[in-house]
Amino acid sequence: MKLPARLDQVLRDAVENKAPSREDCAYLLDLPECSMEAAALTGVADFVSRRRFGNQAMLLGQIGIDTAPCPGNCRFCVFGQDHTTFQSARLGLDEIRRRARAFADKGDLYALFLMTMHEFDLDRLLETVSAVRGELPSHTQIVVNVGDFDLSQALEMRACGVNGAYHVCRLREGLDTALDPDRRKKTFRVIKDAGLDFYYCCEPVGPEHSSGELVEQMFLGVEYGCFQHAAMRRVAVSGVPLTRNGQITERRLAQVVAVVALATLACPETRNIAVHEPNLLGLAAGANVVYAESGANPRDTQADTSLNRGLDMAACRKMLYEAGFTALQRGDASTIALDLASLGTV
Ligand code: SF4
Repeated sequence: MKLPARLDQVLRDAVENKAPSREDCAYLLDLPECSMEAAALTGVADFVSRRRFGNQAMLLGQIGIDTAPCPGNCRFCVFGQDHTTFQSARLGLDEIRRRARAFADKGDLYALFLMTMHEFDLDRLLETVSAVRGELPSHTQIVVNVGDFDLSQALEMRACGVNGAYHVCRLREGLDTALDPDRRKKTFRVIKDAGLDFYYCCEPVGPEHSSGELVEQMFLGVEYGCFQHAAMRRVAVSGVPLTRNGQITERRLAQVVAVVALATLACPETRNIAVHEPNLLGLAAGANVVYAESGANPRDTQADTSLNRGLDMAACRKMLYEAGFTALQRGDASTIALDLASLGTV
């Protein structure tokens, strides 16, 4: 067996913790999805990530706390105002508290994410953060996944107990969405300046995205020093405009995960790699994080995704175990064993 010389060199460098260049990343993304070369890529990324993160994984949970026809109008999201069938609705505080407790009850939740639509009410968000903080153990962090915000808002969030923010300049932002890419990037800087952890993602990947587009978008996370990088595919949901372009396979998504994992070798701030939605191929290609989900989900036609697409904590925990991870990190830097006993099977 002999790999092409360029691939051989890029993978040897990765094993030596040297990140591939942008051009190399485009080359890696152009490898045929089911080729031996792509399998070599995902295998090396898996090895490098496990060594980098000590074969530890992270379990995250997200509650989508409201739904509305959204002016972000993303052509890949069920809430885009020009095509959505959802009405405005929000979870009550007691229900959010109950869900937060359920996510955290086994003591292995690194962080709970609170997700809103693009437009959000800061006072209501802060009230929710305070309520949730009272339900969560000190080893579980709180992360927001909301629209753009400025530094004073970020500092208010931080003072209230928020530890991080998920924010992305999505693929074809401004073309497939009504949002301004520069405004999205401005919020990256705000997140960093406020001292919040910056969660990023290469998303939402579809069959139409070129390797050049993927590289340009994923390197924003590297440039801005993301705490978490990730890859997510667009899910083909009925009634959503970009569904007509189809959906990549989990195998192709694993290839993108692998490139993200290797590209972030150049980013010392990156502490973990996620794959959305949770799947084993991604966890065997460089990812060590999955999210359990409930409430609103841009990739689901069910108002409560825990009844449809969203996996619960037990399913995510089991998936991480089956992927070979032996411990889970918690939000206070402690770890907890991931074994048959923690799965409740013995
Ligand atoms: S992805 Fe977010 S910003 Fe875009 S339409 Fe959906 S909820 Fe709004």
